[in-house]
Amino acid sequence: MSIRPWRDVVRRKSKQIMVGSVPVGGDAPITVQTMTNTLTSDPGATIDQIRLAEEAGADIVRVSCPDEESTAAMSEICREAAVPIVADIHFHYKRALEAADAGAACLRINPGNIGSAARVREVVQAAKANGCSMRIGVNAGSLEKHLLEKYGEPCPEALVESALEHAKILEDNDFTNFKISVKASDLFLAVAAYQGLADVCDYPLHLGITEAGGLRGGTVKSSIGIGSLLWAGIGDTIRVSLSAHPVEEIKAGFEILKSLGLRHRGVRIVSCPSCARQAFPVIKTVEVLEERLAHIHTPMSLSIIGCVVNGPGEARETDIGLTGGGNGNHMVYLSGVTDHKITDDKLVDHIVELVEEKAAALAEDAAQAS
Ligand code: SF4
Repeated sequence: MSIRPWRDVVRRKSKQIMVGSVPVGGDAPITVQTMTNTLTSDPGATIDQIRLAEEAGADIVRVSCPDEESTAAMSEICREAAVPIVADIHFHYKRALEAADAGAACLRINPGNIGSAARVREVVQAAKANGCSMRIGVNAGSLEKHLLEKYGEPCPEALVESALEHAKILEDNDFTNFKISVKASDLFLAVAAYQGLADVCDYPLHLGITEAGGLRGGTVKSSIGIGSLLWAGIGDTIRVSLSAHPVEEIKAGFEILKSLGLRHRGVRIVSCPSCARQAFPVIKTVEVLEERLAHIHTPMSLSIIGCVVNGPGEARETDIGLTGGGNGNHMVYLSGVTDHKITDDKLVDHIVELVEEKAAALAEDAAQAS
């Protein structure tokens, strides 16, 4: 029996664009984005939320610009943010001009929806003058009337055609500095549309399953949709759309990338579900560790396993391992090898200490290597 290579994701070759200082597409790491849900016209609240997203690892943050008050706040927001800011524009092309002048790194705008060719030219000029990229954001819920009439309902072909029509408008204006999304809340529709689009262009793709739902349901749905596309090598930047705090979107985005081995950030915990054999409370321990290790950005793995059934095997594959043992004595593994025992009372503090030490050592190694 021969089994084909089963761990590799071969990424689709896409053109690279810059969103501010962050490359998207080509061989750039797949980036994780979110969107603020504060009033953009309240720069203080918006900057506070951007800060939380940055701390969670956001590479790019999008903010809505529905009115002039919002674009008026954009200068301050863009100045204060450490990550590039994408201005989300619908219909009002003037907001795009204002956002570009205010320092937005990217405009999310569909050129076919802003009226005349002259307006498109103005937006393209503003983008070029300010070094902005763009995202064409096709959404099954707001497909153009002529495509709905042609296809009868939102379908993958209609989403792809819409994306290509918008792309053509920008290309005709000598502007190719853009990425594309073709989102739908139906994950079959979204996945098929992205697959179709990936086949016919080399623009970088922004993946998302729109209006995916609440924290749990939306994360599962997005993981299936975004995850299957990434697994097939499609996708250059992702946004997990949740009815939850933006920080949760970032966390979910990184978990998807970590699961596929596409990007690593922070501690990847391997833990068992626990059962009657557990020698310490696994669920509670993992819960506390997740919280206490949230500040670690260095990629590393940690196994927390309740007993010897699976503990030694998992510990062999992780940087730090803990396996529950008899009489409150648990085995700690370092780099896959048994190292020492630890008792119940010191367990969590000890693991936190080990992870922090390992993170500091890895950071030092990285600094010396660079
Ligand atoms: S590793 Fe041990 S404690 Fe954990 S679920 Fe398996 S048998 Fe139960």
